[in-house]
Amino acid sequence: MTEGYIKFQCNWVQKEIRIQEELFQALEQERSQLFKLGLIGMYPDGIGYGNISVKSAENKTFIITGSATGQYAHLKQSHFASVSGYNFEENSVTCEGMTRASAESLTHAAVYEALPEVGAVVHVHCLWLWEKLLNNYPTTSEEIEYGTPEMAYAVKNLSCSLAPKQKKVIVMGGHREGILAFGRNLKEATSTIINLFNQNKND
Ligand SMILES: [Zn+2]
Repeated sequence: MTEGYIKFQCNWVQKEIRIQEELFQALEQERSQLFKLGLIGMYPDGIGYGNISVKSAENKTFIITGSATGQYAHLKQSHFASVSGYNFEENSVTCEGMTRASAESLTHAAVYEALPEVGAVVHVHCLWLWEKLLNNYPTTSEEIEYGTPEMAYAVKNLSCSLAPKQKKVIVMGGHREGILAFGRNLKEATSTIINLFNQNKND
């Protein structure tokens, strides 16, 4: 275990949340595209991977697919969590919903904090694409593991350093298969990663 590693803490209030119908449909539609390509899913050992989030217009909160939802082709409202607070240093999030937010919601928070214009973040897993993009796109250090405060800080720093016209993609060097893509809205975030997937698959 890395020195100084702080275990992820989820302050979860288990209660029903209601996502506005139009937003829910958009989340469902974009996520199902990622699911079909295997960018979000479940490994044979039953562990889910990948998540998608959208920032609320009014404040710093965001809605994210909950933990252990990777296996479903289609999601219900109860599969989402609303993140209302977080602390990188303490490696903690505060969330509500019938499903809790995973440790990866901190990486989403890091992108939102760095770039106020970003409205949606997707985190996918894809080994061959990850290997192709590794160090060809902004990449976090291989030393930095998933679910650590260091990952949140590294993603925040890399997000800040992106040039306005640069593709909004970050490769998580120490989180094998992990890639982040983001954009002003859900569609932009999803198409960024799907375009990369399609452009690279035939090479
Ligand atoms: Zn991941």
